[in-house]
Amino acid sequence: AAHKETHGFQTEVKKLLQLMIHSLYSNKEIFLRELVSNAADAADKLRFRALSDDKLYENDGDLRVRLIVDKDAGTLTISDNGIGMTRDDVIEHLGTIAKSGTAEFFSKLSGDQARDSQLIGQFGVGFYSAFIVADKVTVRTRAAGQDSSRGVEWESAGEGDFTVADIEKAGRGTDVILHLKADEKEFLDDWRLRSIIGKYSDHISVAVQMYKDEVPESEGPDGEKIEAQPGQWETINKATAIWTRDKSEVSDEEYQEFYKHVSHDFGDPLLWSHNKVEGKTEYTSLLYVPTKAPFDLWNREQKHGLKLYVQRVFIMDDAEQFMPVYLRFVKGVLDSNDLPLNVSREILQDNKITQAMRQGCTKKVLQMLERLASNDKDKYQSFWNEFGNVLKEGPAEDYSNREKIAGLLRFASTQEDSSAQTVSLDDYLGRMKEGQDKIYYITADNYQAAKSSPHLEIFRKKGIEVLLMSDRIDEWLMSHLNDYKEKSFQAITKGQLDLGELEDEETKKAQEEAEKQVAGLTERVKTVLGERVKEVKLSHRLTDSPACVVADEYGMSTQMIKLMQAAGQ
Ligand code: ADP
Ligand code: MG
Repeated sequence: AAHKETHGFQTEVKKLLQLMIHSLYSNKEIFLRELVSNAADAADKLRFRALSDDKLYENDGDLRVRLIVDKDAGTLTISDNGIGMTRDDVIEHLGTIAKSGTAEFFSKLSGDQARDSQLIGQFGVGFYSAFIVADKVTVRTRAAGQDSSRGVEWESAGEGDFTVADIEKAGRGTDVILHLKADEKEFLDDWRLRSIIGKYSDHISVAVQMYKDEVPESEGPDGEKIEAQPGQWETINKATAIWTRDKSEVSDEEYQEFYKHVSHDFGDPLLWSHNKVEGKTEYTSLLYVPTKAPFDLWNREQKHGLKLYVQRVFIMDDAEQFMPVYLRFVKGVLDSNDLPLNVSREILQDNKITQAMRQGCTKKVLQMLERLASNDKDKYQSFWNEFGNVLKEGPAEDYSNREKIAGLLRFASTQEDSSAQTVSLDDYLGRMKEGQDKIYYITADNYQAAKSSPHLEIFRKKGIEVLLMSDRIDEWLMSHLNDYKEKSFQAITKGQLDLGELEDEETKKAQEEAEKQVAGLTERVKTVLGERVKEVKLSHRLTDSPACVVADEYGMSTQMIKLMQAAGQ
């Protein structure tokens, strides 16, 4: 082969390879899922590119993936006629990890095998999983539309480096040839392979094929003649896109496997929702909520969104236009009947169809979460623990759904003796006192500070529940939530504390009396503190502490002021 070069793997790849081979060994068959998944992606990409350039099919539009076993050589080949790769593609995609969250992933590794293998599963290993079962991998590929002389051969033993060389390759697409380790020969077995494909790849829309050997002419037990059968390629998966099938015909296992294919996550999803929408806009959506947050959840710039299809043709990954940012953890596919096949990100940006689908999908996700919250509290709690802080961005971003989102929020409160966020606003409303017309809350730097705030004293005494908020985003959240089910929110650190109906006449009189008595004292304190305070007042909210600082009713709260200071404002 010509122009042969040796390249070192990116450091992260080396680490990943080492780690993976050891920690994923007990689940080694997943390598086939990963490689077939890549082949299916390659078919999708070719179909998409061929929409505008039919010649890319090179007169072979029958896209398929083939598993080829060579028992003598001890190799298993996964061969596709998809988009293929150029030399540059190969060096970039099979030598580095371009995935988001990579640095974070490596920083979380502990050296503890059980924990690390869990993390690795979450991170996803893709192509490199081939080295779990192979001690050498050869990739032969040619990009669609290129001359047959522009083939590339990549080869590696999965240690420090790999080679790339130019080759002649007549057929378009990619062959991944696994030289199986001596004790992995089970993957040469026809039935073993069929059962793995059945388990992992039924939902994939491209055909996965195996060769059925010819059966020579023979004689049956009674001397009758049995006809010869020619050898042929046989499709061994269902090969229909899962979302086009009827819900009742898709098993939970199939939904779960498909999730792994679209999300590149190894774990099972927490829940999903499959919908065919008919009417003014027609589309099918299959939306998943993951069990675990991905490594890059906190990076709002990171890729997210749905896989977009138009009339079953793959159009793009990470179409973020169909999901608001506060639901960026949702994965899945959207298949539109209305959008044009040549749709681009620019066209999607400002488009009525996009808006309608976005509204529909948002509603579906909120509904699915509402249903989970009422049907399975524990499962909802585990969702909240992973994604609650993302959902808290919702009321600011999505005004029209803010009441729905508010209903999904969970808080710590004075009702429970724990920092766990388990109390819903409906729980709170159900416990309100006679005559209480506000939802009281406090924001602070941390749970301890919120819980031991002197502002709470009067509420404790009167047995009124207060929500304790101490996440960074809470202040932002509360500045966009004015009320819930017609009860307004009141920060107990802000302005005059008006307990409204909760105050009785006698207490009011006593308070007015007390105010007159201390008039001189508050004047003096004000003189001493001067410019540093706006006002000094007698407080009725403290029962044990002598004094506390409160924010102006219409000014920023103390917590917001701290946030602004931290941000250098
Ligand atoms: P992922 O599938 O999550 O992108 P992988 O490690 O599985 O990560 O694959 C890395 C990249 O290598 C793919 O994104 C793709 O660009 C390329 N690739 C892998 N297998 C194929 C293939 N069969 N055909 C074309 N490109 C491929
Ligand atoms: Mg992959």
